[in-house]
Amino acid sequence: MDLQDQTVLVTGASRGIGRAIAISLAKRGAKVAGLATKVANLEGVGADIAALGGSFLALEGDISDPATATNAVAAVVSEWGRIDGLVANAGITRDNLLLRMNAEDFDNVIQTNLAGSFHLLKAVTKPMMKQKGGRVVFLGSVVASIGNPGQANYCAAKAGLHGLARSAAIELGSRGITVNVVAPGFIATDMTEELPEAARAAMMAKIALRRPGTPEDVSGLVGFLLGPNGGYVTGQVLLVDGGLSLG
Ligand code: NAP
Repeated sequence: MDLQDQTVLVTGASRGIGRAIAISLAKRGAKVAGLATKVANLEGVGADIAALGGSFLALEGDISDPATATNAVAAVVSEWGRIDGLVANAGITRDNLLLRMNAEDFDNVIQTNLAGSFHLLKAVTKPMMKQKGGRVVFLGSVVASIGNPGQANYCAAKAGLHGLARSAAIELGSRGITVNVVAPGFIATDMTEELPEAARAAMMAKIALRRPGTPEDVSGLVGFLLGPNGGYVTGQVLLVDGGLSLG
């Protein structure tokens, strides 16, 4: 229970990677606030955490709206008095080849995956500065560094997170706040389930470990960054991709 009574906001906690992160943090004693587009989507993870004897706060909102971040952080501070960690995990895809990608699909992905993380970072900065410490983790992606056909919008948004994290790490380091990106490879969730078979096969062929990752493969690294041994890591992009990026 090395995160006993730490308070952490995890966006996109209803499914996939975010759900695994929320549960693994709760198992280590953290109080977890989970956010999704609908509070009803969080019933399952809330029940799992309650069964572990943990504390869970369910929050609803669209992260592309700056008010969602402000309200969510205010709710955590009002409930538990502080916010020790932010895991900006919620994200979307709107895949299409460039010739067919419209401006709306480009903008939606940028507003959700990049601007949404910025809004959350801004909202936690004040309380974390007051507390003289905090840990922020953005969920990036291996494709931000290597590119992926059909995902120009998604790759641009995730690559933006790298610059955001590095700049924020420099600005906030003197206040004891760390900011990092965990960049998964091909993880078995609803998001990758949607991919066409050919795209899935192409990804699988590149993975050195010859298997897709699990949400738990990712939650372990996120948990490390939030835990007692992660305090001297900041401004980094850490891949958890089974060797996919090696080619
Ligand atoms: P997922 O299974 O599709 O789940 C997405 C989560 O984000 C859900 O909880 C969803 O909530 C929430 N969400 C989506 N749009 C939102 C919005 N506008 N406002 C608030 N919440 C929103 O995704 P995943 O595969 O677990 O991916 C999690 C993160 O890892 C994402 O940032 C993704 O880009 C990144 N990632 C995933 C992979 C992969 O292979 N799966 C690889 C690299 C990076 P609802 O349930 O309410 O819809």
